[in-house]
Amino acid sequence: MAEFADIIIDISHEKVDRPFQYRIPESLKSQVYAGCQVDVPFGKGNRIRKGYVVGLSNQACYDREKLKEIVRIHKGSVSAESQLIQVAWWMKERYGSTMNQALKTVLPVKQKVKQKEKRWITCLIRKEELRIQIAEAAKRKYKARERLFRAFLEMEQIPYEMALQQLHITAAAMKPLIDQGMIRLDTLADYRNPAAGFLKSQGKTGSLVTLNQEQQAVVSDICLQYDKGIQKTYLIHGITGSGKTEIYMELIEHMQSQGKESILLIPEISLTYQTVMRFCRRFGNKVSFINSKLSAGERYDQFEQARKGEIQIMIGPRSALFTPFRNLGLIIMDEEHETAYKSEITPRYHARETAQYRAGLCGASVVLGSATPSVETYTKALHGIYGYYKITRRAKKNSMLPSVMVVDMRKELKEGNRSIFSGRLESLIKEKLAKKEQIILFLNRRGYSSFLSCRNCGAAIKCPHCDVTLTLHQDDRLVCHYCNYQIRRPRLCPACSSPYLAPFGAGTQKVAALVRETFPEARVLRMDYDTTSKKGGHEAILSAFSGHEADILVGTQMIVKGHDFPAVTLVGILAADLSLYAPDYRCGERTFQLLTQAAGRAGRDERSGHVVIQTYSPEHYCIEAAATQNYEQFYQKEMEYRKLLSYPPACALMALMVSSPNEEITGKAMETAWRIAEHFYRNMAAGPHLSGSLNMQFIGPVNAVIYKLNDMYRKILYMKCENYDILIKIRNHMEEELKGHSFYGQASILFDFM
Ligand code: ADP
Ligand code: ZN
Ligand code: ZN
Repeated sequence: MAEFADIIIDISHEKVDRPFQYRIPESLKSQVYAGCQVDVPFGKGNRIRKGYVVGLSNQACYDREKLKEIVRIHKGSVSAESQLIQVAWWMKERYGSTMNQALKTVLPVKQKVKQKEKRWITCLIRKEELRIQIAEAAKRKYKARERLFRAFLEMEQIPYEMALQQLHITAAAMKPLIDQGMIRLDTLADYRNPAAGFLKSQGKTGSLVTLNQEQQAVVSDICLQYDKGIQKTYLIHGITGSGKTEIYMELIEHMQSQGKESILLIPEISLTYQTVMRFCRRFGNKVSFINSKLSAGERYDQFEQARKGEIQIMIGPRSALFTPFRNLGLIIMDEEHETAYKSEITPRYHARETAQYRAGLCGASVVLGSATPSVETYTKALHGIYGYYKITRRAKKNSMLPSVMVVDMRKELKEGNRSIFSGRLESLIKEKLAKKEQIILFLNRRGYSSFLSCRNCGAAIKCPHCDVTLTLHQDDRLVCHYCNYQIRRPRLCPACSSPYLAPFGAGTQKVAALVRETFPEARVLRMDYDTTSKKGGHEAILSAFSGHEADILVGTQMIVKGHDFPAVTLVGILAADLSLYAPDYRCGERTFQLLTQAAGRAGRDERSGHVVIQTYSPEHYCIEAAATQNYEQFYQKEMEYRKLLSYPPACALMALMVSSPNEEITGKAMETAWRIAEHFYRNMAAGPHLSGSLNMQFIGPVNAVIYKLNDMYRKILYMKCENYDILIKIRNHMEEELKGHSFYGQASILFDFM
């Protein structure tokens, strides 16, 4: 039991760097934990104040006699902060980080923003007039104005910020509309619940759908268990369009009726204008949204509202998990399989596990939703650890599943077709264009890009800081997509000075150009890393496509997520195999997910949809299963492979990455780390508490896939073990041991659970 506690008085991000140490009196030793609220004497006058324990230790940082003592455990309810500190402590232990790093992840940066007035735009013209205005704006190509008017079809009032950020309307564009009396700008004083405005304009209870039987059964079951006090995680396995979002909203409402708050995590890319509108309509000003583009101050503002109980629903990416709600009842994770739920910086936490831990602290339910659940999650559902619901039908009447066909591109080549479009895809594109329907062409990954290589000596032009080729852009720049290093396209080979430099491969730019060439009558939009890197870029492209400003959208994974384009009746996947051979044990799973999601974009209303999957390996189980939309078939094959090679979830897998700017130091540090780990493991396996059958494998060390990145040389050692806790023990031991070595501080050492 710890003798001393580190305590912060004022709970804020900035204060965690300098906690105060206190002695724990004998009588309290068994009661003090990280996150615990305690009363302590503070300052010169020793006034009693409430503090939070953020660390425990057995060593006094200086003279123990001079340390003050904790007076008592603070009486009163457990605050949100107390819970969040507990979460931080758990994250530190689980993922390996300092308590400081963990605290900074969960606590908001305190930063005052100038209190912005909440403003709303109100539509003053009637529906019929609105339609005329929309047509007029479309004719005159007033894109922003058209978007605004279309939004007013759904809602009479729109938050001003939303119009600026999501609809991309400038204040200047609104000015003439205000002058002509078509819209009005109101401040908070005139605030009205936007849901009320919407309901009124619809003349009935809005578009609030009546849940179908399948949806209702899920909602009733989860609510019933929650009301009985059962704390659990559930998986809703439902195809795209099966009505999961409606289920989420119903669950949130159930919580709301009991004064409980909800957090909905959704991948940032799906947080579109459509989604925002849907939740605003239903929950009015009780819902708030965060995204990664918010400033620290804006985020703090949102979190304050949550802390004060002004809002009850928070929607956002993984960091929304740390919203300081006091009465959290529900955490939902939409698209639970998404990779963005894992943090890329220390602590490298996974939002799914962290959500479950936080929910456990306050008895909240966790609901995971996906059309293609992660293998981990589905395994737990199969074993009854998670509640499981499967929905196989689309919710909208008459909405049909698309028909999917697989085209073997090897055959196409044999038959003399060298184009990137198979005969089948080309004729379908023509057919849809003639019918004025929309088409999505999906290129599996951005990295499928052109680079320059020398036809004389064979050298490819690489980034001097990273082990990757530079990507050729249309404006003749060569760009490193990892570190953003850029140069002008050279005329001569840097290695042999030959002038025969030529591009290899085809990226989205190239595809878009080919589409324009093959279908000159089509209007083409492109969506990828480059066209969306500007703020709001991706939203602008999506809303343009959604407004039928183009016939064909060419893009990378970004286009297959979340967005609902009713007029899309054809999805072409140009090269399904591209993500199949990535150096990652999850590449099969990712491929299946991407293909299934892409296919789900087609035919979302009554018109029949088609999906064409072009591939060089039509017999691969991931492609076969995606074509037949058969998750179980995919899962069974995938699990066989994971078991055979001892990959998660069959086994726990931890990676140790050592990197440094000096190749020799990287090598030495890795050797040492590896020796320490092996030695420790052998002792442990021979030890009294563990049997010899404790299976553990070391793989590597190997060079990282990109060995040199940002001028750092990187080596990786993989450790596999059926027992997760063993890996944590090894990690903790290694961290301790490595501190004594000379290279400590010169090489960076990073652990990551894969
Ligand atoms: P998911 O989140 O699973 O993709 P959504 O909840 O977005 O599905 O529903 C897909 C579409 O079906 C939406 O347009 C939604 O309004 C509609 N929808 C959902 N449930 C119902 C229902 N019970 N009755 C009618 N339409 C529904
Ligand atoms: Zn050369
Ligand atoms: Zn680089």
